[in-house]
Amino acid sequence: MQACKIMNYIVFDLEWNQSPTGKDGEHKELPFEIIEIGAIKLDENMNIISEFCETIRPQVYPQLHHIISELTHFDSEDLRLSRTFIEVFRDFRAWCGDDFMLCTWGSMDVTELQRNMKFYNFDLFQAPVYYYDIQKIFSIVYEDRKTKRSLEWAIDYLKIDKNINFHRALSDTYYTYSVMKLFKQNDITKNFSIDYFQKPQNRSEEIYVVYETYSKFVSREFENKTYVLKDKRMNSTICYKCGKKVRKKIRWFSDNSKTYYSLACCDEHGWLKGKIKLKKSDGEKVFAVKVLSLTDDQGADSIRQRQNAIRKKRREKRAKAE
Ligand SMILES: [Zn+2]
Repeated sequence: MQACKIMNYIVFDLEWNQSPTGKDGEHKELPFEIIEIGAIKLDENMNIISEFCETIRPQVYPQLHHIISELTHFDSEDLRLSRTFIEVFRDFRAWCGDDFMLCTWGSMDVTELQRNMKFYNFDLFQAPVYYYDIQKIFSIVYEDRKTKRSLEWAIDYLKIDKNINFHRALSDTYYTYSVMKLFKQNDITKNFSIDYFQKPQNRSEEIYVVYETYSKFVSREFENKTYVLKDKRMNSTICYKCGKKVRKKIRWFSDNSKTYYSLACCDEHGWLKGKIKLKKSDGEKVFAVKVLSLTDDQGADSIRQRQNAIRKKRREKRAKAE
């Protein structure tokens, strides 16, 4: 019999430093240097089983940026006596174990952790990196799915005791956990996020996931943006309920250079609205994220109106130019 794999949750938070002299002194490959990792490990039922917390001696920016030292109250002497990222992360990685899901407040920590890992030549997490963004799930459960609140705002909203200081890695980790505990576990697990630090490099690495009310497709990198919309897998519309290719009523159109919209109709499931967001990668390169979601007549109408408004704006612009 195969041993049952136990999945842990690693709730974590990072504190980082940045160039104390601003952009001029910034190291391009490491704009944010991690100076503290705080984490707790949860079992599959979300009970705490272990804790990890350690400060890290900064090497790229040995001097603290004044905002960082005000916000976090780090003692520079403490940091000077700390171990390096290579030493601390090696222990942290071992502590995480093999089978875990990362949980953080917001999307930055998972990205910046990997950027620091890459900088110090650690093997990256196996891609695609899925994780739980508790800030996003807070918005899905309590608000409009879009608004991003600070952790402290959420703590106040939920009337959770504020007995420890914010903005140190371990205290923010515990606050994040106290928000998580108020969700149904299912609200967390069905709303996983995808981190884009490691972009799909080829066709086979492209990501397609189906959520309850939408599907998401993450393309590979393209040399530049003109190739993205020409890509068949990117411009086609597949109904995520039945898997059938559906005809578009409105082809992809855009109101700026980064976002495209479309409208299609599945015979069985009705209106499907599409949205493609272009995302910058290294240099000229781009990749794109396509989201398809079912909508009603009103939703279909708003896509039509959006297209009409853009056409009108273009006509007016042209008229002015003539
Ligand atoms: Zn369908």
